[in-house]
Amino acid sequence: MKPVEEICADLIRFDTSNPGADERDAAEYVAALLAGMGLDPVLLEAEPRRTNVVTRIEGTEPGLPALLVQGHLDTVPADPSAWTVHPRGGEIRDGQVWGRGAVDMKNAVAMTLAATGRLLAAGARPRRDIVLAFVADEETGGVHGAGYLVNEHPELFEGCAACLGEVGGFNVASPPDGPPTFAISVADKGLRWYEIVQRGIAGHGSLAALDNPITGLADTVLRLAAATRTVAVPEPMRLLACELAGREVSEPADVLDVLTSGTGPFGRMLAAGMSTTVNVTRVGAGDKENVVPGEAWARVDCRYLPGQEDELDRRIRAEAGPSAEVRLLRRTPPVVSDHTGEWFDRMAEALRDELPGSRAAPYVFSGGTDNKWFGRLGMRTYGFTPMLLPSGYDYPAMFHGVDERVPVEALRFGERVMERLMCR
Ligand SMILES: [Zn+2]
Repeated sequence: MKPVEEICADLIRFDTSNPGADERDAAEYVAALLAGMGLDPVLLEAEPRRTNVVTRIEGTEPGLPALLVQGHLDTVPADPSAWTVHPRGGEIRDGQVWGRGAVDMKNAVAMTLAATGRLLAAGARPRRDIVLAFVADEETGGVHGAGYLVNEHPELFEGCAACLGEVGGFNVASPPDGPPTFAISVADKGLRWYEIVQRGIAGHGSLAALDNPITGLADTVLRLAAATRTVAVPEPMRLLACELAGREVSEPADVLDVLTSGTGPFGRMLAAGMSTTVNVTRVGAGDKENVVPGEAWARVDCRYLPGQEDELDRRIRAEAGPSAEVRLLRRTPPVVSDHTGEWFDRMAEALRDELPGSRAAPYVFSGGTDNKWFGRLGMRTYGFTPMLLPSGYDYPAMFHGVDERVPVEALRFGERVMERLMCR
């Protein structure tokens, strides 16, 4: 069995950039590793070369609820001219694996494969059935990946009561005099994408415009950007803040302060788990310099906390005003799992067994993951890619970033934690 960092590097060398992804070769590589462990993986495709790999490891106690561990094989694209190394070179240098997918999320796929290989090679078997799913198409919504499996092949996940995916299981704070605190994601925020179309009066660019829709749209964009965000305190964020502060914290401003002041690069991500965010991400109007266009449009990416969807919708429509047309382009409801039950405890225990004294607390992930699909099958879903990250390493910036890379030691740590977890 290859070391985990080499599996990660091998996976990076397959170009699975999405959109336009082709996951077949990466999936066949994964399937060959699984077959080499004595497992019986199946390849499933919603469209040619959009390949998913699923296998089941039979546990010794078939009556126990099964566990799904899932990861996506596709990545976002990378522009080689901006990188220090080639994003698909799979280089291992300075104790790190470099390349697109190193943290999102070929690292997790490699850790899961290495942990499974190690467990089975030692002659051990998990107590419960463990289903492994390595999927296509997460980066453009998962329709050909997790969505396809959940809709067309739900039988593959029979008996699965919990699902582990991205993004969580890493230490958000490591005080020099104390144990690190790991944050495990128990929720993904909801998503609403809007298009706002402002109509006006088209005309010649040489005359004073009667009603230039770009001006009206610009006002809307500024209003959306200036709107104050209501900070809420979801219970997982409060618990994480209490853990980090070592005392009771409950006031929104205090919780926000604790989560953003002692967590270095994680501050922005954690702050986003405490409010509904609204970002204008695309605008467009006109196609000629001497024509005032008849309409202008903006696209808005909104991520909302559970319970804040109606308020968000009202706000967007109010800011757009009566003269604009507001269309909802995409909606994904939030997924929320428990942070007190046996599954959360198992993850926390696996971390503590590997790193005695370490602590784990729940948090709300600021984005969305394939957990939204698997949650539809009634599973509890978590973000758990366990890694002990060195201080100074800007993990959040690695996601979709230039020079994405992951420390080899973090991968090895994750492999060991996953092996412990799979035995529970
Ligand atoms: Zn991802």
